[in-house]
Amino acid sequence: HAKRQGRNNFQFYAEELAVQVSDRTAMEGALRKALGNGELELYYQPQVALPAGRIVGAEALLRWRHPQEGIMTPDRFIPIAEETGLIRDLGHWVLTTACRRAVYWHRTVDSPFKVAVNLSTRQFVRNDLPGELQRIVQDTGCRPEWLELEITESLLLGNDAEVGAALEELHDMGFAISIDDFGTGYSALSYLNRFPLDQIKIDRSFIQGFPADREKVELVKAIISIAGALQLEVIAEGVETSHQAEYLHAQGCRLAQGHLFGRPLPQDRFERLLAGNA
Ligand code: C2E
Ligand code: MG
Ligand code: MG
Ligand code: MG
Repeated sequence: HAKRQGRNNFQFYAEELAVQVSDRTAMEGALRKALGNGELELYYQPQVALPAGRIVGAEALLRWRHPQEGIMTPDRFIPIAEETGLIRDLGHWVLTTACRRAVYWHRTVDSPFKVAVNLSTRQFVRNDLPGELQRIVQDTGCRPEWLELEITESLLLGNDAEVGAALEELHDMGFAISIDDFGTGYSALSYLNRFPLDQIKIDRSFIQGFPADREKVELVKAIISIAGALQLEVIAEGVETSHQAEYLHAQGCRLAQGHLFGRPLPQDRFERLLAGNA
């Protein structure tokens, strides 16, 4: 009996696996088409200066306006794009679109304004990202200073010479480099001075502990102080309450992003928000 059940389980598992694989293949095809059909869209979430909350930049966040499923958030499709390598084409589209928008905003807004873009590890590996970005800024008229490249700790932990060289080159070109989700990875602090970084982005899981979780509050204080010591800019993500914002400001954090100041918005709605910000 046990043997039979074992075989059935195996069969079940094999079938499930086949379904997953075909789902993925179907998903990759659909995603590739979406890129060609203009179903991808960038939403923008304001980044603000504390305490007043004036908008000083925006993070570009990818959305898929799926014909059947509606707006899909990146957690549903970025992992597949990363596994299949499609992330390079997708990332190219994101960078080009964000640069065009940065140019437009610099024509219409006269204060300094930065557009933050998320990058995947695969965009750095066996891929000439500095060359690609050089062409994109040339074609769009965007200045590297208007862009902030968000990377994750895991990219730095590989301590890959190729990644290090690409970051140096991008930094020399004038792009700002920010570490996203800071504190959630492995946080080998030694990498902070090994790479040309400009900004630390405190992960929202730390901010969400406010103020009840004393340990998280202490960690936030420590991160802000490390950033200060290394002359890195610090921004808090996932700020949802004025209490969190006030505390962060009191601790010396000058920048924030989160639902308190604005959710990610489609381009036209973000631009209306920006117009009211002048
Ligand atoms: P992330 O870069 O850490 O982006 C912040 C995420 O937190 C966004 O989720 C945003 O909507 C959400 N968020 C912002 N403020 C708040 C808040 O106050 N409370 C809460 N609970 N959440 C908040 P989203 O847009 O679903 O993006 C998820 C992740 O997908 C991003 O995390 C980023 O890692 C990735 N991603 C987004 N766009 C791109 C892209 O163009 N390329 C790549 N490679 N990854 C992307
Ligand atoms: Mg990000
Ligand atoms: Mg983040
Ligand atoms: Mg992230």
